[in-house]
Amino acid sequence: MGVLPGTIGLVQATETVKMILGQGIPLVGKLLMYDALSTSFNTFKVRRDTNCPVCGDNPTITELIDYQAFCSMDHSEAAD
Ligand SMILES: [Zn+2]
Repeated sequence: MGVLPGTIGLVQATETVKMILGQGIPLVGKLLMYDALSTSFNTFKVRRDTNCPVCGDNPTITELIDYQAFCSMDHSEAAD
């Protein structure tokens, strides 16, 4: 299913254009499921997690981490 990323990318690009133009109904708070074998789309409502460390009521993660440093970290140091 090599074309699947193209299909999902097209949906993502469309959502971005909708957000930029302020048109339509965005997929905010929804999960879109695409079944390529039956050619069907379904959406599910997703509730916001008020305890989420990123977007919850009291976020504790407020900036991007340094992935390069994080991924190359010596894991024996992480236990300290
Ligand atoms: Zn969140």
